[in-house]
Amino acid sequence: MDPPSSAPATNPSESRAFRRWLKQASLATGLGLTPEERERYVEEQKHARCEKWKTELLSYSPPVVFMLKHLRLSGCAVPPSNIVCGSCDSTRSGGFHPSGAIVLCQGHFGGKRHMQDTLTHELIHMYDHCKFNVDWYNLRHHACSEIRANSLSGDCRFMREIGRGNASFSKQHQACVRRRAILSVRENPKCPDEAAAERAVNEVWESCFNDTRPFDEARVTTVPLVRRKS
Ligand SMILES: [Zn+2]
Repeated sequence: MDPPSSAPATNPSESRAFRRWLKQASLATGLGLTPEERERYVEEQKHARCEKWKTELLSYSPPVVFMLKHLRLSGCAVPPSNIVCGSCDSTRSGGFHPSGAIVLCQGHFGGKRHMQDTLTHELIHMYDHCKFNVDWYNLRHHACSEIRANSLSGDCRFMREIGRGNASFSKQHQACVRRRAILSVRENPKCPDEAAAERAVNEVWESCFNDTRPFDEARVTTVPLVRRKS
């Protein structure tokens, strides 16, 4: 008597389906995977989520759509293919390259809102690069763009600062912008030390903090401690 045709052991297509199912079960649970397979799987998941959020932000996020529009109007349109999800070291959430590319650090984002702030931040650098002929090795130029990007992107929203353990109310927004700008300028290869980064930020602070182009005014969503000079 012949074995039943549906027996898994003898039906090649069903045993393939079974192996596929087993693989999916291991991916979902992490069981039976080598550490490399597990790591690759986690990275693929992060990448897929980053790409999904990116697509949504490029279509629906008000600040991202706004910045893309102003970049286009300034003659520096940014195609979606120039915004890439990649893996970075754990200290970064994103990066901008003067050639016109932005990296979003997949896996760094706790939520789409955080990714929106990072993307907006990098688009502000791109806008500055497009409009103002920035020399990124000049610490004052770099400081100016960091002040604007941190102030205007939403990076320094009050709740996010609480998350970082910086809960002081007094001049909250400005302190956050200043601190983050100094950290970024410190990473500039031409920056010799922390004091030089601080000096560069202080020297351009007044004019750059108050320069909110292309936004009408800084979108400070916290207690309005920051008043624009009239
Ligand atoms: Zn920056």
